[in-house]
Amino acid sequence: MSDTSVHTLAVADPSVEIPPQPFPDVDSQGFWDATRRGELAICRCQRCRAWMHPPLERCRGCGGETAFEPIGGRGRIHSFIVMHRSSVPGLGPPPHVIALVEFDDTPGIRLTGMLVGVAPSDVEIGAPVQARIVDVPGGEFRAPEFVPVFGDGA
Ligand SMILES: [Zn+2]
Repeated sequence: MSDTSVHTLAVADPSVEIPPQPFPDVDSQGFWDATRRGELAICRCQRCRAWMHPPLERCRGCGGETAFEPIGGRGRIHSFIVMHRSSVPGLGPPPHVIALVEFDDTPGIRLTGMLVGVAPSDVEIGAPVQARIVDVPGGEFRAPEFVPVFGDGA
Protein backbone atom coordinates (compact mmCIF):
# COMPACT_ATOMS: atom_id res chain seq x y z
CA MET A 1 0.00 0.00 0.00
CA SER A 2 1.51 3.30 -1.04
CA ASP A 3 1.47 6.26 1.34
CA THR A 4 -1.10 8.20 -0.71
CA SER A 5 -3.54 5.26 -0.67
CA VAL A 6 -3.87 5.64 3.11
CA HIS A 7 -5.90 8.79 2.53
CA THR A 8 -7.98 7.46 -0.35
CA LEU A 9 -11.59 6.88 0.60
CA ALA A 10 -14.08 4.76 -1.23
CA VAL A 11 -17.35 6.57 -1.81
CA ALA A 12 -20.46 5.21 -3.45
CA ASP A 13 -21.11 8.38 -5.43
CA PRO A 14 -18.00 9.54 -7.30
CA SER A 15 -19.53 12.99 -7.83
CA VAL A 16 -19.36 13.64 -4.08
CA GLU A 17 -16.21 15.56 -3.25
CA ILE A 18 -14.49 14.51 -0.05
CA PRO A 19 -12.49 17.06 1.93
CA PRO A 20 -9.03 16.24 3.24
CA GLN A 21 -9.26 14.01 6.32
CA PRO A 22 -7.57 14.68 9.66
CA PHE A 23 -4.38 12.73 10.25
CA PRO A 24 -4.07 12.29 14.03
CA ASP A 25 -0.67 11.76 15.59
CA VAL A 26 0.40 10.95 19.14
CA ASP A 27 -0.01 14.60 20.19
CA SER A 28 -3.40 15.28 18.54
CA GLN A 29 -5.16 11.92 19.03
CA GLY A 30 -6.93 13.19 22.16
CA PHE A 31 -8.37 16.14 20.25
CA TRP A 32 -9.93 13.83 17.65
CA ASP A 33 -11.13 11.39 20.30
CA ALA A 34 -12.96 14.30 21.94
CA THR A 35 -14.58 15.52 18.72
CA ARG A 36 -15.80 11.97 18.13
CA ARG A 37 -17.64 12.29 21.48
CA GLY A 38 -19.01 15.66 20.35
CA GLU A 39 -16.67 17.64 22.60
CA LEU A 40 -14.10 20.32 21.90
CA ALA A 41 -11.03 19.64 24.04
CA ILE A 42 -7.74 21.48 24.44
CA CYS A 43 -4.44 20.11 25.73
CA ARG A 44 -3.72 21.11 29.34
CA CYS A 45 -0.82 20.59 31.70
CA GLN A 46 -1.92 18.38 34.59
CA ARG A 47 0.67 19.96 36.91
CA CYS A 48 0.62 23.75 36.34
CA ARG A 49 -2.79 23.77 34.53
CA ALA A 50 -1.52 25.78 31.54
CA TRP A 51 -3.47 25.33 28.30
CA MET A 52 -1.50 24.70 25.12
CA HIS A 53 -2.27 24.47 21.45
CA PRO A 54 -0.91 22.88 19.35
CA PRO A 55 -0.98 20.00 21.83
CA LEU A 56 2.19 18.64 23.38
CA GLU A 57 2.99 15.44 25.25
CA ARG A 58 4.75 17.45 27.97
CA CYS A 59 4.16 21.02 29.21
CA ARG A 60 6.52 23.54 27.66
CA GLY A 61 6.50 25.48 30.93
CA CYS A 62 7.02 22.89 33.67
CA GLY A 63 7.53 19.58 31.87
CA GLY A 64 4.40 18.08 33.43
CA GLU A 65 2.21 15.51 31.72
CA THR A 66 -0.66 16.82 29.60
CA ALA A 67 -4.20 15.67 28.89
CA PHE A 68 -7.12 16.94 26.85
CA GLU A 69 -9.87 18.69 28.77
CA PRO A 70 -13.23 19.76 27.32
CA ILE A 71 -13.96 23.48 26.93
CA GLY A 72 -17.22 25.30 26.26
CA GLY A 73 -16.22 26.39 22.77
CA ARG A 74 -17.42 29.98 23.16
CA GLY A 75 -15.01 32.58 21.88
CA ARG A 76 -14.38 35.63 19.76
CA ILE A 77 -13.02 36.11 16.26
CA HIS A 78 -9.36 37.07 16.59
CA SER A 79 -8.86 37.19 12.82
CA PHE A 80 -10.34 35.72 9.66
CA ILE A 81 -9.90 35.31 5.93
CA VAL A 82 -12.43 34.87 3.15
CA MET A 83 -11.64 32.22 0.54
CA HIS A 84 -13.25 33.20 -2.75
CA ARG A 85 -11.92 30.16 -4.60
CA SER A 86 -11.86 26.66 -3.15
CA SER A 87 -8.35 25.30 -2.82
CA VAL A 88 -9.49 21.95 -1.43
CA PRO A 89 -12.38 19.69 -2.49
CA GLY A 90 -15.46 18.98 -0.44
CA LEU A 91 -16.07 22.34 1.21
CA GLY A 92 -19.05 23.27 -0.95
CA PRO A 93 -19.33 26.41 -3.05
CA PRO A 94 -17.23 29.42 -2.00
CA PRO A 95 -16.90 31.93 -0.46
CA HIS A 96 -15.73 30.34 2.79
CA VAL A 97 -14.87 32.23 5.96
CA ILE A 98 -11.94 30.75 7.89
CA ALA A 99 -11.82 32.19 11.39
CA LEU A 100 -9.10 32.21 14.03
CA VAL A 101 -11.04 32.04 17.29
CA GLU A 102 -9.75 32.76 20.80
CA PHE A 103 -11.76 30.90 23.43
CA ASP A 104 -13.27 32.51 26.52
CA ASP A 105 -12.30 29.46 28.64
CA THR A 106 -8.68 29.45 27.52
CA PRO A 107 -7.29 32.98 27.02
CA GLY A 108 -4.50 33.02 24.46
CA ILE A 109 -5.54 29.70 22.93
CA ARG A 110 -6.75 30.07 19.37
CA LEU A 111 -8.11 27.54 16.90
CA THR A 112 -8.81 27.87 13.20
CA GLY A 113 -12.04 26.66 11.63
CA MET A 114 -14.79 27.37 9.16
CA LEU A 115 -17.23 30.07 10.21
CA VAL A 116 -20.72 29.31 8.91
CA GLY A 117 -24.10 30.99 9.15
CA VAL A 118 -22.92 34.52 8.38
CA ALA A 119 -22.20 36.38 5.15
CA PRO A 120 -18.48 37.15 4.69
CA SER A 121 -19.26 40.89 4.49
CA ASP A 122 -20.86 40.72 7.96
CA VAL A 123 -17.92 39.07 9.76
CA GLU A 124 -16.19 41.33 12.31
CA ILE A 125 -13.08 40.96 14.43
CA GLY A 126 -14.14 40.46 18.04
CA ALA A 127 -17.56 39.05 17.21
CA PRO A 128 -18.71 36.22 19.52
CA VAL A 129 -18.88 32.72 18.09
CA GLN A 130 -19.62 29.22 19.34
CA ALA A 131 -17.86 26.04 18.26
CA ARG A 132 -19.98 23.07 17.31
CA ILE A 133 -18.81 19.62 16.32
CA VAL A 134 -19.86 18.42 12.87
CA ASP A 135 -19.17 15.35 10.75
CA VAL A 136 -16.33 15.56 8.25
CA PRO A 137 -17.78 14.16 5.02
CA GLY A 138 -16.31 10.94 3.72
CA GLY A 139 -14.80 9.44 6.83
CA GLU A 140 -15.05 8.69 10.50
CA PHE A 141 -13.96 12.09 11.78
CA ARG A 142 -15.82 14.96 13.36
CA ALA A 143 -14.38 18.47 13.58
CA PRO A 144 -15.26 21.87 15.03
CA GLU A 145 -16.77 24.68 13.03
CA PHE A 146 -17.93 28.03 14.31
CA VAL A 147 -21.29 29.76 14.23
CA PRO A 148 -22.02 33.37 15.20
CA VAL A 149 -23.61 34.15 18.56
CA PHE A 150 -26.16 36.88 18.09
CA GLY A 151 -27.45 39.28 20.69
CA ASP A 152 -24.22 39.46 22.67
CA GLY A 153 -23.75 43.20 22.22
CA ALA A 154 -20.44 42.66 20.47
ZN1 LIG B 1 2.94 22.78 33.20
